[in-house]
Amino acid sequence: HIAVLGSTNMDLVTYVSKAPQRGETVTGREFRTVPGGKGANQAIAAARAGATVSMIGAVGNDAFGQRLRDTLEHSGVDTDFLATVEGPSGTAHIVVDDEGGNSIVVIPGANGTVDHLAPGDEGVIASADALLLQLEIPLAAVVAGAETARRHGVRTVLTPSPVQPLPPELLAATDLLVPNEYEAITLTGRTDPREAAAALLDLVPEVVVTLGATGSLYVARGAEPLVVPAPRVSAVDTTGAGDTFVGTLAVALAEEKPVREALSWAAAAAAISVQREGASASMPYRPEIEAQYNA
Ligand code: ADP
Repeated sequence: HIAVLGSTNMDLVTYVSKAPQRGETVTGREFRTVPGGKGANQAIAAARAGATVSMIGAVGNDAFGQRLRDTLEHSGVDTDFLATVEGPSGTAHIVVDDEGGNSIVVIPGANGTVDHLAPGDEGVIASADALLLQLEIPLAAVVAGAETARRHGVRTVLTPSPVQPLPPELLAATDLLVPNEYEAITLTGRTDPREAAAALLDLVPEVVVTLGATGSLYVARGAEPLVVPAPRVSAVDTTGAGDTFVGTLAVALAEEKPVREALSWAAAAAAISVQREGASASMPYRPEIEAQYNA
């Protein structure tokens, strides 16, 4: 059983040949609404990988909120601990241009109300094998969640995104930190991912740095570093690759797969997701992960 404490967002994606400058109006090509948010994405990845998953967080009492809840439930995520609050759901306003460049405005909406644990959350966290956390809800709740998990001996997995300084009490309650390369470098000021990973080990006991198409690097105190390559695939959309990786990794570790195997499993799932359009929509189900893993 995996618990996720984090964000749900509706991504409002506009495709244009060239993004408008201030004062300019342009005609775009396409508009899509895509359920997202790092918390929801990791929850969906974990559920599709075969775990029972509970999502803790909040959506607004608007149409987006209902659709976000439906999307989670459709992938088998339990939403009993996902609150519906007065006001808008979280949204991300994304403009994608023809060169694949993007600009994004995130409005936290309901995610911003998740600044403490609700009654009942402690019970779900305590019964989980792992609690997955990211930084798209107020830090106070992330800290409270991590400390609650720690108190119950539940493994905490933190994705430090959007990257920001991590308070000591959060680091003290984090078991596994999973930054991408940019986040690892930003957190440590080291430019080499290996050095960054080593520096992060001074703060938490286990670190996985994801390295895009290269794969991932695992380091733990007192163990040899592991480099696990990503399958070679042709990527069409890498949105949500990191969330697929983390959600799947947590499931594999909860099943007590050895670390190298768990990392390969996560890489297999992420490799499938980058070959398809969309974030959560592109996430694979367990039989597909196993087929890719065994390929
Ligand atoms: P994020 O999506 O958070 O920026 P990364 O770019 O490091 O993180 O990607 C996360 C994981 O997704 C990688 O460790 C890798 O397993 C997988 N991945 C990402 N891009 C590719 C790719 N082009 N080919 C295969 N796997 C990929």
